[in-house]
Amino acid sequence: MIDSSPTPPQFGTFFVPGPTEIRPEILAQLTRPIMGHRGRAFEAMFARIEAGLRDVLLTARPVYIAPASATGFMEMAIRNAPEGPILSLVNGGFSERFAAVAESCNRLVERVVVPWGQTFDMNVVETALKKGKFAAVTVAHCETSTGVITDVRAVAELAHRVDAMALVDSVSGAGGAELTVDGWALDFLLTGSQKALALPAGLAFAVASAEYVERAKRVTDRGYYFDVLQYEKYAEKNQTPSTPATHLLYALEAQMGDIGREGIERRWERHMVMRDATIEWVEGVSLRRGVDLRIVAPEGVRSPTVTVVTVPSGMRGPDVCEAVKSRGFTIGSGYGDLKDTTFRIGHMGDHTPEGLRRCLHVTENAIAELAERRHLVRV
Ligand SMILES: *Cc1c(COP(=O)(O)O)cnc(C)c1O
Repeated sequence: MIDSSPTPPQFGTFFVPGPTEIRPEILAQLTRPIMGHRGRAFEAMFARIEAGLRDVLLTARPVYIAPASATGFMEMAIRNAPEGPILSLVNGGFSERFAAVAESCNRLVERVVVPWGQTFDMNVVETALKKGKFAAVTVAHCETSTGVITDVRAVAELAHRVDAMALVDSVSGAGGAELTVDGWALDFLLTGSQKALALPAGLAFAVASAEYVERAKRVTDRGYYFDVLQYEKYAEKNQTPSTPATHLLYALEAQMGDIGREGIERRWERHMVMRDATIEWVEGVSLRRGVDLRIVAPEGVRSPTVTVVTVPSGMRGPDVCEAVKSRGFTIGSGYGDLKDTTFRIGHMGDHTPEGLRRCLHVTENAIAELAERRHLVRV
């Protein structure tokens, strides 16, 4: 039998940097009755949703919505980009994925690689861009494996100087970290439902600039499912090219209403408050408990949505996660190269500073106990 516990768990215990915790009111939307997707009611709902997404992403362009995870739209960004080599800025696991997607689409890819935990020196990016005749640049706004923010506005500006398109992954940024698609002149911005937008997984969102769409007309192998021209055409009619995930759109519609009431700028501020609280907590653990934790991202480029924390040698990130779990909270384990040496706090989506404080308190107790057991406390 499926779990039939009478009271759903209280919101505010799940702090993984994606998927993020979903409020019960949003989840409840999934039980609304089905509607056909080729009719007025659907089009009206789609129009409301799109207006909401435009306000979140700060764009006047259509917002494409697909039943896919965000990686699907990485593929769309590449498949529809003008012919030619791609410059990929790689500073962690997800920006490397964008480069790998480009290679898998038979693009010649050149990488600017910096160590995990760093962002890019724009002079280096500029030099790299001038060396080849690049059709596009790929970059992750928030690198979720390290908690580092990259100045994608500066990247786009440099790309445009050499007539290249700026393709930006803001999967864990959009809806939590400051982002202005039109104002920053991003050519392709992609994100997903299950990170800072705090929705069920399964929806990908993207915005393409008019210039990107214009150039896509000359791309001959755009494929079928992720053909940007189809998405553009259907979005203008408040429709989707193939069957939409209507129930996920119900949840999205409700969430757009709530985000609209909060206001996107206030939402960004709430995320910065949560980031600052997490940074202060990391420093406090050292003072209060004698356990040295370190934040992977250097000051100045720390993400408002996720903080990646290095544990002292002798302790393992996954053990911290497990100890936290046994106390009723969930935090994220390290990702990729940082799997064993870090844990990740996803302070994004609908979480509140108060809820986060409870999670950090519990995490601190778990860490202190682990450190004591292993004699790792500094004296
Ligand atoms: C989660 C994430 C992805 C992958 O998104 P999926 O929805 O799992 O395809 C890509 N990039 C970043 C920065 C992410 O955080």
